[in-house]
Amino acid sequence: MNKAWHRRTAATLACLLAAGSSAGWLAHARLQQLQAAFETDARIVHRLLSQRMVQHDAILSTLALLQPAEPGLGGADAALPRLPSVYPQILDVLRRPADGTWPAAAPELDAAEATSRATGHATLARPDLAAGRYHLVLASTPASYALHIDLHATVPHDEWPMDPVTSPIRVTLEHAGQAFTVQPGSTPARGWTYGFRKALASPSQPLDVVAQRVVGWDELPWFAMLGWCAATAAAAVAGRALWRHRVARRRAEELLRLGQVARLNTLGELAAGMAHELNQPLTALLSGTQAAQRLLGDDPPDLDTARTAMARAVEQARRASDVVGRLRRLVERPDLAGQMQPLQLPAAVHDVLHLLEPECRARAVVPEVQAEPGLPAVLAEPVALQQIVHNLVMNALQALEQVPAAERRLELRLGTPTPGQVQLTVRDHGPGIPPEARERLFEPFFTTRAGGLGLGLPLCESLAQAMGASLQLAPGNGRGAAFVLLLPAATPTP
Ligand code: ADP
Repeated sequence: MNKAWHRRTAATLACLLAAGSSAGWLAHARLQQLQAAFETDARIVHRLLSQRMVQHDAILSTLALLQPAEPGLGGADAALPRLPSVYPQILDVLRRPADGTWPAAAPELDAAEATSRATGHATLARPDLAAGRYHLVLASTPASYALHIDLHATVPHDEWPMDPVTSPIRVTLEHAGQAFTVQPGSTPARGWTYGFRKALASPSQPLDVVAQRVVGWDELPWFAMLGWCAATAAAAVAGRALWRHRVARRRAEELLRLGQVARLNTLGELAAGMAHELNQPLTALLSGTQAAQRLLGDDPPDLDTARTAMARAVEQARRASDVVGRLRRLVERPDLAGQMQPLQLPAAVHDVLHLLEPECRARAVVPEVQAEPGLPAVLAEPVALQQIVHNLVMNALQALEQVPAAERRLELRLGTPTPGQVQLTVRDHGPGIPPEARERLFEPFFTTRAGGLGLGLPLCESLAQAMGASLQLAPGNGRGAAFVLLLPAATPTP
């Protein structure tokens, strides 16, 4: 598993994470919205039901207050039969006269009346929440009163905040283990549950308003979530393409900087300059020798003039030789002394391998880099060092083209063979170098490759020498070829 694979996996994971978290955020926002709506509805339900219940206390208090002092129907008692038609939740109004009993003759009503007399407010009696019924008893003098309430009619449908049949919210009224279902709601098997429980705002009717909402998975905003995922994936793909484009552009710029292209241009310029510089002395040399040849052929030969012509020819030949020498010095001994600086060799190797990633990929070669830990910095000129490593790796890749893909191996080892020196070995498992070629590798223009210039290794050698380093071919043991670059460490050991 190589670096590219790791990078791809990391990018895919990051993309999945981004898509997942944005979809999760959308789901979370929807759940919060549903919870807020639920809590609002539950509070409205509690307020509405409380308002209805408080009415019962008010009706009982009014009956107690307005009852006639003498027994018999008069005052508010005259209105008793009409109350159920005004308040549909009141099924019946019961009255116990001062000297009588409750019409329903229920002991629970007596007990509730006693409690009411003790507490001073109405008391719940005979609760049957399954049927939605209970009595509310208020003890007063001379007569006491009780309302028979039907919970079904307590729900104010005209003000109700939701449709009681289709709403997913379940609402019940609970008291002492009994429950009256105000609306059933829907309860999916799995999902998120929100709950609400609050006692009615009537101390005489200790009923809890209980609301519950279960949000099922199908209520999540799947379309929006999938849309987000798709958008994130598209953005990631676009970002990756952009990033690749930038890397490719940077690589091309870097290659140009390294002088791969510039070097060939320079070579062309060098050849043109050389041709121009040499043309003149060679032409003069040719005409001088031709003149001498002609003069010597005369009868009698004009020896003096021929000698002068030959002397001029020698002078021109020397000039031509000087031109060549000057050019060679220029090419072979670049002056790097002023540009040396401490560099990390592993980083330089890494940069070159990054630059050559497409070349490696094209040949199915995965470079194996092994670096000793704690390598000291080297003293080198950055571009020259890159140029050398680049040429060595490129040569190795070209050599590897000649062996089957499965056998292609390229190793780069970094170590410190002796204190004060850092060594880079570039070893390939290609066909190797035949003995007759080994001697001539560093000669300018020696090449065995069709289209090769034979300038790579001589250039590397002269660059290495200019930096106080050395470049050598390792002895030919094992498979393939290995080149060893030995660089001075930046801080020489004492
Ligand atoms: P070029 O690559 O243009 O031929 P170089 O100076 O870089 O010039 O290389 C000279 C010659 O050395 C190559 O033509 C090739 O025969 C030989 N050579 C260099 N590196 C290797 C290698 N790793 N394996 C086999 N032969 C190599």
